[in-house]
Amino acid sequence: MRLVLLGAPGSGKGTQAQRLQSRRGVPQVSTGDLLREAVAAGTELGRKAQAVMDAGQLVDDATMLGIIRERLARPDAKRGFILDGFPRTIVQADGLARLLTEIGEPIDAVVLFDIDPFVLERRLAGRRTCRRCGRVFHVESNPPAASDLCTDGGPHDLVQRPDDNEETVRQRLAVYRERTQPLIDYYAKIGLLRRIDADGSLGDVDARLERAIA
Ligand code: AMP
Repeated sequence: MRLVLLGAPGSGKGTQAQRLQSRRGVPQVSTGDLLREAVAAGTELGRKAQAVMDAGQLVDDATMLGIIRERLARPDAKRGFILDGFPRTIVQADGLARLLTEIGEPIDAVVLFDIDPFVLERRLAGRRTCRRCGRVFHVESNPPAASDLCTDGGPHDLVQRPDDNEETVRQRLAVYRERTQPLIDYYAKIGLLRRIDADGSLGDVDARLERAIA
């Protein structure tokens, strides 16, 4: 299974990618997570990416294509992958298509997470991530249960992402509309696009996603 999850920041792609990964054993490939790992490790890429991410802008296409090429060459991606947050521009989508043609592994489907902008803002304001395992929660709709422990056996250590503040969120949504939304038509024209309503309980969205990729 080779999927692209497309949608605005806060539309639930990351959460659904994590849930689909555990159901199907196919790795979630989140370019945002890969960049945040580089920032945490203090690599050259991380230093370069941090300022761009903090400003709510996009890291350049050539860098992103390099990251994806490397990530998809890892052995676990042979079983397929769930792309979360990539591609985000037409140039990235063209580059991805070339890369996948080269390795003979075309995309099966692109799922668009359709959501009202008001719901997006509420979701982003309440979003928290575990500092240690990277799992995504929401203070209202998806808090960790008492029995739901982190991979190290302790409780999750929840933090707000630095780019989830109001000002950066506004910028990220503007960048999404301008640079990423054109991908909806791009994938519709080649018959890969499936649309799901991304508002609802986790279970509802799980079911819609499963139907869309069945
Ligand atoms: P995300 O976790 O997907 O919301 O990504 C967080 C930030 O990482 C974005 O706001 C961008 O600054 C950067 N980023 C992630 N994926 C990409 C991409 N495909 N192209 C450019 N920048 C990206």
